[in-house]
Amino acid sequence: MKKDARPFIVAANWKMHKSPREAGEFLKSFVAQTNKRSLGGDCEVVFFVPAIDLMVAAESLRDSQVKWGAQNCYFEMKGAFTGETSPAVLSEIGAHYTLVGHSERRAIFHESDAETGKKVKALQGVGIVPMLCVGETLAEREAGRTNEVILRQLRAGLEHRDTNKNVVIAYEPVWAIGTGKVATPQQANDAHVALRQGLKDLGGDGFSRVTPILYGGSVKPENAAELGAQSEIDGFLVGGASLEIATFLPLIPG
Ligand code: PEP
Repeated sequence: MKKDARPFIVAANWKMHKSPREAGEFLKSFVAQTNKRSLGGDCEVVFFVPAIDLMVAAESLRDSQVKWGAQNCYFEMKGAFTGETSPAVLSEIGAHYTLVGHSERRAIFHESDAETGKKVKALQGVGIVPMLCVGETLAEREAGRTNEVILRQLRAGLEHRDTNKNVVIAYEPVWAIGTGKVATPQQANDAHVALRQGLKDLGGDGFSRVTPILYGGSVKPENAAELGAQSEIDGFLVGGASLEIATFLPLIPG
């Protein structure tokens, strides 16, 4: 599953699901089960938990090989920003990754391309790896604008990036998120090929070779193997199927 110089990453996006008690029970049980089997070579597992569960994730995953992070953050470190989460605090409590620009943030909370760029910069500045989400709507795909949209989001998200630090990209066609409609392996890989070229144009060969591009959108045990076998797919960002250990564990190469 691992390609070139990139790890294979399987990431859970719990969205607004699970209380601290539920998160703690899930993560402890998950660690107990993954300790019984090895994660496949160069495979990383990440949980993006609700903000209120972050400390529980830090505690529950402390001595494990499993990483965790936030689903969103602000681009300032502190101040009068009611309701926001500071990248500096995420770093202090040990977050490894944080999502930026998930389609629900863009569509429901009106997060702009420009804000995603500032968040990527802020996260890298405190040593957290941003996972930048890009993806087209159904109307954009049907109008033949998929590559134009995802490359615009890629360029804006990476506009202020630190060229010495890592970033991860997640391609998530909006029409495939939470709908049960999965992109075909070919549709997904074509978008990943365009993004890989976009990374090359922005940061050269080396940058494009080491930057993982995950696929997200109704990934489940029945379609994971075929998607993961595609040449440019370096893992998954998983919503619905990450809420139960029984449907998340089979997505992780063993
Ligand atoms: C997501 O939330 O990023 C996602 C891909 O959700 P789902 O797997 O449920 O489509």
